[in-house]
Amino acid sequence: MNIHEYQSKAIMKEYGIHVPEGYPAFTVEEAVANAKRLDTPVVVVKAQIHAGGRGEAGGVKLAHSLEEVRKYAKDLLGSILVTRQTGPQGKKVNRLLIEAGAHIKKEYYISFLVDRESRGVVMMASECGGMSIEDVAAEKPEAILKEYIDPAIGLADFQANRMAYALHMEPAVVRKAATFMKYLYKLFVDKDCSLAECNPLVVTEENEVLVLDAKLNFDDSTLTRHPDIMALRDITEEDPKEREAAAEGLNYVNLGGDVACMVNGAGLAMATVDIIKENGGDPANFLDVGGDSTPEKIVAAFKIMLEGSQAHSILINIFGGINKCDVIATGIVEAAAELSGGKEEFPIPVIVRLEGRNVEMGREILHKANIKNLFPAADMDEGAKTAIRLAKEQREGK
Ligand code: GDP
Ligand code: MN
Repeated sequence: MNIHEYQSKAIMKEYGIHVPEGYPAFTVEEAVANAKRLDTPVVVVKAQIHAGGRGEAGGVKLAHSLEEVRKYAKDLLGSILVTRQTGPQGKKVNRLLIEAGAHIKKEYYISFLVDRESRGVVMMASECGGMSIEDVAAEKPEAILKEYIDPAIGLADFQANRMAYALHMEPAVVRKAATFMKYLYKLFVDKDCSLAECNPLVVTEENEVLVLDAKLNFDDSTLTRHPDIMALRDITEEDPKEREAAAEGLNYVNLGGDVACMVNGAGLAMATVDIIKENGGDPANFLDVGGDSTPEKIVAAFKIMLEGSQAHSILINIFGGINKCDVIATGIVEAAAELSGGKEEFPIPVIVRLEGRNVEMGREILHKANIKNLFPAADMDEGAKTAIRLAKEQREGK
């Protein structure tokens, strides 16, 4: 789970980490009142969305007067911010952070994340702060420094010091920076984070170590033991389709491609996404309908896949076990009827591979229904190839 920058900063503050004084605002009046309360020559007006890249997209503004705060707050609140992380549809700005401006001497990047390869936590840092770390990793990988942390030992003092020196920090700053690293590591572990990132972390003209941008991600499976974190969830920031799917008991993740898929079982769903990729296609989603599929659930799954979607074909890959192929087939027939107003056709090609329990009954049901735009496939490979070919034809308007 993701939370907002101002929420991340509030948690960091509890751990003794220095963050600028700041307050969230939901309205223009609140933004101005917060700026008044700060009473600093420069006030930073920051859009709060669950995505980075706000600075270059115009979502971070420096205001030098209350009038400017009012103007920027007005411009930003309710606007759609398109950043390199939001996708082309952007994200609506519903909240702002009104923060005291800092005297930046130098910007750094620093983060902690779970590292599967070393089975521990890795601390990453760079002197190339304030810019997209993905660009740094691609263009100048040697500028990213790493310390591998054994979770049984934790972040050792010498590691924190070594990192601060490697970042060429002045001796007067090294101790403060190392202390900051220890505090952030403690937060990371206590709160079951999957990522804790500061970009930029800055050293100010006053030689303070200050977090200017903060991002915390949490391991979803640990949230039951963190009700305080759970309370920070902002569902307006989450993909509406993923939310809708979760409410239907479906496990759906948007992947952005144009070959949609509907599968029973997470493992088979992953294999299906893989086989589409393997054959040169672009999966639109991951969708696991689970092991207790009713026809209603299948209909709901179709609606979610088709709604406002970029999909040009749908590959249904079912291995009947707990699920029975005849139940799935009935769901497919019902979906066709419901989606076409009783005409029994699909708006885009649907390729069906059925195997396992009650497969003969399932095939019979589909065959009898004689649905337009429905194509049976003998196996996964053929199904994927057909789905990709038909998506391409659909795309090119054939
Ligand atoms: P992001 O673009 O979404 O990562 O948003 P950031 O919070 O990182 O802001 C982008 C940039 O705005 C930073 O890299 C800073 O250079 C600048 N910035 C943010 N806060 C302040 C501030 O308090 N004072 C000044 N002068 N610049 C700031
Ligand atoms: Mn940033």
